[in-house]
Amino acid sequence: MSKFENKETALIHGGISIDERTGAVNIPIYQTSTYKQDGLGKMRGYEYSRTGNPTREALESLIAELEGGVAGFAFGSGMAALTAVLSLLHSGDRVLISSNVYGGTFRLLNKVFDHFSITYTIADTTDLEVYESQITEDVKAVIIESPANPLMTVTDIQAVADVSHRHGLLVIVDNTFMTPYLQNPLKLGADIVVHSATKYLGGHSDVVSGLAVVNSAELAEQIAFIQNSTGGVLGPFDSFLLIRGIKTLAVRMDRHVENAEKAAAFLSSHSAVKNVYYPGLESSQGYDINRRQAKNGGAMISFELKENYDINKFFESLELITLAESLGGVESLVCHPASMTHASIPADIRKKVGITDGLIRLSIGIEKIDDILADLENAISAAEIK
Ligand SMILES: *Cc1c(COP(=O)(O)O)cnc(C)c1O
Repeated sequence: MSKFENKETALIHGGISIDERTGAVNIPIYQTSTYKQDGLGKMRGYEYSRTGNPTREALESLIAELEGGVAGFAFGSGMAALTAVLSLLHSGDRVLISSNVYGGTFRLLNKVFDHFSITYTIADTTDLEVYESQITEDVKAVIIESPANPLMTVTDIQAVADVSHRHGLLVIVDNTFMTPYLQNPLKLGADIVVHSATKYLGGHSDVVSGLAVVNSAELAEQIAFIQNSTGGVLGPFDSFLLIRGIKTLAVRMDRHVENAEKAAAFLSSHSAVKNVYYPGLESSQGYDINRRQAKNGGAMISFELKENYDINKFFESLELITLAESLGGVESLVCHPASMTHASIPADIRKKVGITDGLIRLSIGIEKIDDILADLENAISAAEIK
């Protein structure tokens, strides 16, 4: 639990925020692989940087505090964090995944854990009855994203956690889209929260990293063992960058969300737009649930243009908003989920879960909103097939 009541303050002063030895107000980058021992078995708290590093430890204590967990762990990417968490499972186990999880999570289960006879089922976490019926004897865990990528589907985390726990499942929530500033899954009953810290937590599109936070000492011990054994740790410099990014998360998120709410309103009322997916819109699926479990709707928006608009032309006509993978940086990004972030999901499954070829996903940045809207307007008009 955080010693700070307000998240804005915890983001800056949480975890180990001052260097004990020198008083430095930024945790130094301990760029070292190993540590002097004063005699056999006489360590000064560290022995080797895969096992522990003071810069990484400062970050790990910070994310644990921000998510309200027992311990945090930093990895070389979001996928490395998920890999470590899924390494808790054994062959023969099955994982339920919510229907539009990140493409890489799907691929990890479909193409890698599959080798070890750990299987998955795409579950409907938005319908509790259907969901419960999908929990077969071999199901041991569930991975939830809320809002889920890219249709911004909202899942009632507390309700799904309650049903899952009745069946002894481990509840894992990927909180990348919301960040600990907007939503705290452990407080809603999850056992483990994971982040692609590459996105909002880093916030500047300059570091690839992943984080995991657990809610019990037992899980902490298991994940620490897996992290040290499998070795996908985050380096000291990247740990420093992440701590630096997290300090400004609240001010960045406030601006991201303010802009996203305006962009969603603009798209919703635009005559060229067919559908808008944004949990901050009152008309959207799961608006009430999201409002209850999160601070607001975040800053990710997906939408579709009407048939008489050429989507390629739209992408090519954008001048400010950059066509790129990833999200959550200060700059606005746009992507085409069917061919980019979700390309590793087979076309038939994409179609079934509603990821159409016309779907466009926006990560709204913190630029002046007028410039973002002008760029969208300009690209939409250029894309009209006359
Ligand atoms: C990007 C992303 C990941 C993967 O994280 P990496 O840091 O790219 O490995 C996982 N989940 C979600 C929701 C993401 O957006």
